[in-house]
Amino acid sequence: MHHPRGSALLIDADDTLWENNVCFEQVRAQFLQWMEALGFPGGEVEETFAEMEHENIRNNGCGGENFVASLKDTYLSFRPDPATRDHALSQIDAMAETVRKHPIHLLDGVRDSLEILRRKHRTILFTKGNPTEQNRKIEASELAGCFEAIEIVREKSVSAFQGVIARHRLPKQYTWMVGNSPKSDINPAVAAGIGAFYIPHAWTWKREREELCVSTQVTVLKRFSDLLEHL
Ligand SMILES: [Mg+2]
Repeated sequence: MHHPRGSALLIDADDTLWENNVCFEQVRAQFLQWMEALGFPGGEVEETFAEMEHENIRNNGCGGENFVASLKDTYLSFRPDPATRDHALSQIDAMAETVRKHPIHLLDGVRDSLEILRRKHRTILFTKGNPTEQNRKIEASELAGCFEAIEIVREKSVSAFQGVIARHRLPKQYTWMVGNSPKSDINPAVAAGIGAFYIPHAWTWKREREELCVSTQVTVLKRFSDLLEHL
């Protein structure tokens, strides 16, 4: 398809360019098992963790460090034996090592597709989370060179989209968001007046699930490389 010069793509990172949430889910599952082995009831632990996580995200935004803090807060809320507490907390740290280091596994076709897309469109990486953690992942992905700009925000709200559109003077009619989250990528993009490509990921975080808005501005794709057929 032909697009005028200056057409632009805002591209999400976690679970769009690389695997992310699966890493957190594995640690969460391991933690729940570990808590059960210590004698704390699974259902209650799961519920408490969800509350702690919600609270910590509200106060500090999302990210790996905050996730580890939520695991520890959950454990401590069950009033564990002080004699074994410190050892247990260090076990949680060990479990969470994968989340802290977060090895980057690019999704299929991402690198090659980006190389093509960036020659035809302005490309901006648009992600949310802890800037230090996100920057580390971007560096590890070796994809920074595929983007003219990198934008890290705390939440991808409608006003965050409006901010990026204004800062980079993006033409709304020829700008699209690409991402895996209806809540953070697709719905606010459409509300801000741009188009969107929704690429669902099987491991999308449950906090990111939200009913996809009904709009002719949204195209659903199976995989990242399918973008090349539309852009
Ligand atoms: Mg994402």
